[in-house]
Amino acid sequence: MVKVKLADSYPGFSLTVDGVILNKGDDFVEINDSLDVEQAINNGYLDISEEKEDIEKKEVKEGNEVWVFAEQRNGKITRVVFELLGKARDLSGKLNVKVGAVLVCEKGVDLPKELIAYGADKVYLIEDTLLNNFKTDLYTKVISDLIKKENPQIVMYGATNIGRDLAPRIAQRITTGLTADCTGLDIDEDNLLVQTRPAFGGNIMAMIKCPKHKPQMSTVRPGIFKMLEKDSKRKGELINVEARISERDSVTRVLEIVKSKKKTVNLEEAQIIISGGRGLCDKKNFKLLEELASLIGAEVGASRAVVDAGWIAKDHQVGQTGKTVRPKAYMACGISGAIQHRAGMQNSDIIIAINKDPNAMIFSIADYGIVADVKEFLPALINELKKQ
Ligand code: FAD
Repeated sequence: MVKVKLADSYPGFSLTVDGVILNKGDDFVEINDSLDVEQAINNGYLDISEEKEDIEKKEVKEGNEVWVFAEQRNGKITRVVFELLGKARDLSGKLNVKVGAVLVCEKGVDLPKELIAYGADKVYLIEDTLLNNFKTDLYTKVISDLIKKENPQIVMYGATNIGRDLAPRIAQRITTGLTADCTGLDIDEDNLLVQTRPAFGGNIMAMIKCPKHKPQMSTVRPGIFKMLEKDSKRKGELINVEARISERDSVTRVLEIVKSKKKTVNLEEAQIIISGGRGLCDKKNFKLLEELASLIGAEVGASRAVVDAGWIAKDHQVGQTGKTVRPKAYMACGISGAIQHRAGMQNSDIIIAINKDPNAMIFSIADYGIVADVKEFLPALINELKKQ
């Protein structure tokens, strides 16, 4: 990041650089240190803050890095990794250290460049033919060995099936703590990681620190943090790490991978989600949500009330005990907006709520609120969309 303002000598009243509008007379603002910004500074359009120049002179320290476990499946990095890299950049900036990504995979997978483009300064690449499929014992061994050697101060994992299996084992192996399902991460005045997560049924937010053991480790659900824009020009370092493993280090053998035939719901990566709650009044009205979702390429979500009522399967549930989502648009149909539901969707870019009660809590976080009966509104909307 760099602190800049529009130069007095600039001939216009405002200038848009890297998506940020800078007006004449405005104070310094922080902006991405991108090529566009660099060019505008070189052309004399922008003044750079001296405060920033001091920051720039501060050398980023070696060691004590902030790490992200770069989970991949079939040679594709999972989205939560990019979200964690975005957060890692924020934390590493406060600690003045580098961001490392730990990539465990089979030989010949070309993924390090992508990790660098999303914020990693270093990629620790552990390649071995024995690592082509996830195996807890082998992954635990190679990552624990690397942590012991390099001493990162923070390691983050996605709270995915793999991350939830791996992180506690590593924590035990290297004797440190682990905070699961964090919803916030920050650095305190003693440079310790403050890990925030709901506790006691979501009634309090606990702030957890791990002052006596290193690294400080957390899992974070997909959709909590925002990923940075991809910057293919970013430069980083690739470190090949030897995997000191043999078949004897694993008690399991993968004979065959059989994919579930059941249609899986991918709420965490969905761009649009249409969720239904008790206001749908009947299980059969979920058909309206499914029809609307198929028309606009959305996924169907749900509140816990309707999951508990058996109207829809649990993997559709959004909220504190369901999934955390961050779509471009979230449409809540007949959902009251209880705190436990909001915990899973309030970071959506745009929230649209349809509820017949104008005082429903969901309207307090909605960008667009429609006071209507969902049973009348949804068929009308579907009809309109079909006409187009
Ligand atoms: P209701 O609260 O009953 O709301 C129904 C809404 O529909 C009302 O606002 C009503 O005005 C409106 N309505 C009724 N008829 C119509 C109509 N015809 N047209 C339009 N609007 C209509 N909940 C979650 O969702 N996710 C979780 O992960 C979750 N985890 C929880 C964890 C714990 C520990 C606890 C204690 C609770 C949890 N809950 C969770 C439950 C949560 O507290 C709420 O009970 C639940 O979210 C309510 O679901 P709802 O909004 O569908 O139902």
